[in-house]
Amino acid sequence: MVNGICAVLFGLAVGSFLNVCIDRLPRGQSLLHRRSHCPVCKTTLAAHDLVPVLSYVLLWGRCRYCSAPIPKRVVLVEAGTGMLFLVFWSIYGASVYFLLATLAACVLLVVLIIGIEHGVGLGRGRGSPQVGKKGVRDGLRR
Ligand SMILES: [Zn+2]
Repeated sequence: MVNGICAVLFGLAVGSFLNVCIDRLPRGQSLLHRRSHCPVCKTTLAAHDLVPVLSYVLLWGRCRYCSAPIPKRVVLVEAGTGMLFLVFWSIYGASVYFLLATLAACVLLVVLIIGIEHGVGLGRGRGSPQVGKKGVRDGLRR
């Protein structure tokens, strides 16, 4: 029970880092160089603004400094990662499989959300192969 709670707390913290990856990787920004800041008013966020899920709830989903809305994705990724860690902990316990499963899930989550937010994949990205409805239909007929 206590270990499960620790897994959730660890997952929440990792989820917070995944949000940094989702925000910065597509822009080519460093993951470590600059502290977390509001993308609208550029104010560097204090430690109490960065508590996963809790800060979002206490601030009603808005920036403490400029009241700009914080994307719901932030709290969903944090809470979702916490739940993923709990699920994997209940399946694998303290093992290398837990680490591998959480690592794979985190990478997939970051790639999936960047793809959704930036319209990458399924032939919609620049330079990717164009797979239209006709191509898919032709493939199903064969
Ligand atoms: Zn702000």
